[in-house]
Formats: sequence, structure tokens, C-alpha cells
Amino acid sequence: MNRKLASVQRVLEVVPIAGADAIEAVRIHGWTCVVKKGAFAVGDRGVFFEIDAVPPDLAPYRFLWAVKGVIPGEGARPKSFRIRTKTLRGCLSQGLLLSFAELGLDGEFSDGDDLTARLGVEKYEPALPMGAMDLRGPFPGRVPKTDEMRVQSVPAVLDELRGLPYVATLKCDGTSATYLVDPYDGSFHCCGRNWSVREGDNAYWLVARQLDLDAKLRAKEGRYAIQGELCGPGIQKNLLGLTRTRLFVFSVYDLVAMRFVSDGEMRALCDELGLDAVPVVEAGESFAHDQASLLALADGLYEGTKSPREGIVIRPRDERRSEALGGRLSFKAISNRYLLAERD
Ligand code: ATP
Ligand code: MN
Repeated sequence: MNRKLASVQRVLEVVPIAGADAIEAVRIHGWTCVVKKGAFAVGDRGVFFEIDAVPPDLAPYRFLWAVKGVIPGEGARPKSFRIRTKTLRGCLSQGLLLSFAELGLDGEFSDGDDLTARLGVEKYEPALPMGAMDLRGPFPGRVPKTDEMRVQSVPAVLDELRGLPYVATLKCDGTSATYLVDPYDGSFHCCGRNWSVREGDNAYWLVARQLDLDAKLRAKEGRYAIQGELCGPGIQKNLLGLTRTRLFVFSVYDLVAMRFVSDGEMRALCDELGLDAVPVVEAGESFAHDQASLLALADGLYEGTKSPREGIVIRPRDERRSEALGGRLSFKAISNRYLLAERD
């Protein structure tokens, strides 16, 4: 399921902000965002922009980068501008809700319609992790790419997981890596999020050589693709504070059965092959969290550092399909403490 950075949404709740007379908050799915008081009532629709949305440099959005006394024109959008997590009058605000009228739209839409492309909204991407990548080719088919939805965008996943054995793992802040022996051409691939990376002195291949992944995967008849987070010096901001590059495995895909293996099978395979799996933050027999308690669990520091951790990824202990996500039941809770501390 792709993120909808700008979509048609309905206000589920209007929440007053104590002591504020010009603003109030509205709830859209699991998100709370601040709006002008009286701008929306419960049931009203508008276009909701999620955090990380970068609106185009056009009139309806220019108030966002207006500086007092200056009328912003084209090209005035600050370089790293994006819709961010903020606190306004002590109220957490995540996202932006605009009316159809403010956007010059007629409102001929259905709830949930994705307007990202139509409005020319882009996604903020932090600087490339390790400079430009030397690409070998497309991500080998058959293995799903790595991605996780935010719990606030699809709150129904909480009901889907309720009562099931679950595991919440540490979201390691690095870059995604997938390793496999391609069942079609028999060659070993090191992949990033979207591409297979050419062999060389890059972090993907350095770790593959250190861990002897090609041989280890062949020892298992090339049956498994290993997906993990590469973390270390020079990768993102190295929030884990590592002194060497490491791989934290978060998924194992069985290329024969064409499914992800369970968390337990993944950890057993990691033990057998001498790999590290992502640390478990919490595991339980019966999932009972709500959004607020999961967000509280997401907060914390990476062990041995003063850096707020990015969050957690939550899954059933045995793989399960999610109707709400249209795929694997798995989602993330990003720490608000981390989001508020983010500096460009
Ligand atoms: P968004 O979709 O929210 O805009 P994004 O697409 O950049 O953000 P991330 O925030 O990086 O995605 O979240 C998903 C990624 O988190 C996965 O692709 C994976 O690389 C990484 N990750 C780190 N730790 C884990 C973990 N414990 N379990 C699963 N994925 C993890
Ligand atoms: Mn994503």
C-alpha cells in the first residue's frame, strides 16, 4: 500500500485546545492536526496532507512559507520544506487539512481519493544515504520491497492484530537492504530499497562480504531472501551510534513458498547463519495496544546513546494478511519524540 501524501478525508472529531481561541484540532484517521477554529466540523471533508508531504510552490500553499511582512512568490519555498510534526499551543499537530475551496477544487471526489499526483505533491526524502548508488539493475522481481505503513494512517490494523501473539521490534534507523540468490539467473544480488546495487566498495556489498551472505544463502539452496537494515557510520545519521556497519535482519522471504517466514523462523535462521535480527522491544501473547500506548512504546533512546529511537515495527508472530493494508499485516509506530527532534 502506497502512502497517500494528499488525499480526500473526512473529519472524525474536532478537539478544542485549552487556552487557544484561534485554533483547534481535528482528527483524520489516527492523525491529529491543528486548523483555524471553526474551519471544519465533524463530517466535513477536505484534502489532508500527511507529514513529509511537499506541496508545490503555488498560491494555495504559499502561506506555509510566508515570513511576516513578505509576500512570497514563486521560488520562495524553503529548500527542505515539508509538512512536519509540530506542537502548537501544547497540542501535537501532524499534517495539514485544507478545504476544497482553498485549493480551487470542486469537491467531486470520494473519501480516500489520492490526490498526491494530481496536486503535484511530492514526498520529502532525506539526503541519499551513501552518495549516489552504482545501480546494477531493477530490484529482482518476486521479492516484495520493504516498506511499512504508519499506524495513524490505517488505524484498522490495530483491530486486525487484536488478541493475536505479536512482536514489536526496534525500528533501526539506517537503510534497507535485501540479499538473495536470484532463482532465475543464479546470481547473488545486494539490493537497496528499489534497486539491485552493483558489486563494489559500497555498504551493501561490504556487509555481504563480511557476513559471507552469498555462501550462506547458497547453503540454504538459495531459498531465502534476507531483508534487513544496514546501519553504521555514514549511513543516515547513524543514530544507533555504531562504530562499524551492521545488518539487522527484519524479514526473511521464502522464495519457494512465496511467503514471509514467521518471526520465530526468521530468528532461528539468523541464529543458524550467524546474523543479527532486529531487537525485540516487546512481545506478547495477545495484542491489546491502542494507538496511544503503541506510540508510548515507540518512544525511547537507542541503547547506549542519547538519540531518540525512530520507533517500532509491529507484526503478528505468525504472518497474516491484512485487509486494510491489502498485504502483509505489519506496520510502524514512529516516535513523536523523534519526529519533534528532527532537524532537516
Ligand atoms: P514512509 O513510508 O513513512 O514515508 P519510508 O517509506 O521512508 O517512510 P521508513 O520510515 O524507512 O519508510 O519505514 C520502513 C522501513 O523501515 C523499512 O523499509 C525498513 O527498511 C526499515 N526498518 C528498520 N527497522 C525495521 C524493523 N525492525 N522492522 C521492519 N522494517 C524496519
Ligand atoms: Mn513508505
